[in-house]
Amino acid sequence: MPSDWTYAPAPEARDIVTLRERYGHFVGGEWLEPKETYTTISPATEEPLAEVGQATPEEVAAAVTAARTAFDNGWSEIAPSERAKYMFRIARILQERSREFAVLESLNGGKPIKESRDVDLPLAAAHFFYYAGWADKLEYAFPNQRPRPLGVAGQIIPWNFPLLMLAWKIAPALAAGNTVVLKPAETTPLSALLFCDVLRQAELPPGVVNIVTGDGRTGVEIVKSNGVDKVAFTGSTEVGKSIQRELAGSGKKLTLELGGKAANIIFDDAALDQAVEGIVNGIYFNQGHVCCAGSRLLVQESIYEPVVDKLKRRLTTLRVGDPLDKNTDVGAINSKQQLEKIQELVSSGAEEGAEIYQPPCRLPEKGYWFAPTVFTNVAQSYRIAQEEIFGPVLSILTFRTPEEAVEKANNTPYGLSAGVWSEKGSRILWMAERLRAGVVWANTYNRFDPTSPFGGYKESGFGREGGLHGLEPYLSFE
Ligand code: NAP
Ligand code: MG
Repeated sequence: MPSDWTYAPAPEARDIVTLRERYGHFVGGEWLEPKETYTTISPATEEPLAEVGQATPEEVAAAVTAARTAFDNGWSEIAPSERAKYMFRIARILQERSREFAVLESLNGGKPIKESRDVDLPLAAAHFFYYAGWADKLEYAFPNQRPRPLGVAGQIIPWNFPLLMLAWKIAPALAAGNTVVLKPAETTPLSALLFCDVLRQAELPPGVVNIVTGDGRTGVEIVKSNGVDKVAFTGSTEVGKSIQRELAGSGKKLTLELGGKAANIIFDDAALDQAVEGIVNGIYFNQGHVCCAGSRLLVQESIYEPVVDKLKRRLTTLRVGDPLDKNTDVGAINSKQQLEKIQELVSSGAEEGAEIYQPPCRLPEKGYWFAPTVFTNVAQSYRIAQEEIFGPVLSILTFRTPEEAVEKANNTPYGLSAGVWSEKGSRILWMAERLRAGVVWANTYNRFDPTSPFGGYKESGFGREGGLHGLEPYLSFE
């Protein structure tokens, strides 16, 4: 336990956020009074925050119709530089209102304010800036081809980076000239609803972006809708597979960004203290609710002991607690359901024979919490080495040679990301060539940039988001 005097509480003021009692669906630029509602809460305290809509099939259909009308009545035809203008406005407004959004994101999702403030918000704005720049350059981006928008994009996003995933989805869709119906995750709808204010402030034409809230049933309606030309989904592999089955033969375009079980690989020549920071950032960032989290640590055998010692020592300094405290490193688990999933997988690890370590830390009584956890003595066959936990839980394995590291790293149905730590550039390149992962970070981890494509292999999905690649799923070529 760090001494109590080390950090005094430094809570971020909440009053910058004004919550409405009840939110409807944002359809055709107007708030549609919802037929059914549910309560969204703060996972850190379980306090109710607002009533939000559970969209019915008719409400989803209304949103799709609004998007189609906006597409046909001008959005697909206006000068690309005009589209860019709206997107630059959205980006600037997000920057201006970033503190408000950061507080709301932490309140509704449980992530530490220093992450929503320093990562989610700047990156969300950066995505709009970046794709705004492409809007009037599409013909140069794809020379000798005539890129055309697809029409209405149906977009479904998860709860781990609510506003950032919205930006990843909406920015390329708009830059390419499409209109959008987006559903945020059931547990984190509020930043998407506040974003509707931004759209109005930016004077985006009505119906270009429509937001409907609700649980998986609302997602199913979006996927099934005949008015949707393209589906973009980020979430679990299981739901991704069901969407792919549903769309088979429909001609609708699909991109899937699914789960992961990434290897973070530490060679004996790596700068150990930096590597330990990278391990911590890789798995405890955002409570491990990260599809590309470095959840399997592969350590070269000769440095196993110093790495594990340093890591355990570092874990005792992580501050777990109030997401709105500026000193907090690890916030609340996003939902009761996710907490139960983590607990179940962690007990399977102990039962299968792995050794568990958790630093002493006092968890708040209310809300959903899980202490940062490390497993040693892990066999590749254990569930904690195979399944995505999506929580602050690290499994440590060892290797002797680079060949063995590659084999173990690729021994997973997933293939989203990987990390390599070594002072030797040639070794990093050798590894990167052989790792079956969409992203390979070298001597860093969890770095995101709108200019850089992101996406998976195998059960991690297909299609890329970010960069020039991220425009292709929203275009057809004549
Ligand atoms: P999920 O169920 O796949 O949710 C992702 C999104 O899809 C949410 O908006 C969800 O609505 C919606 N959805 C659920 N069922 C659907 C269906 N049949 N058709 C269309 N849309 C549907 O994932 P989750 O429940 O949030 O989390 C479960 C697991 O998924 C996690 O433990 C983690 O392993 C993985 N996950 C991966 C990522 C990633 O970035 N790759 C992100 C989040 C979760 P609801 O919010 O109502 O469920
Ligand atoms: Mg779900």
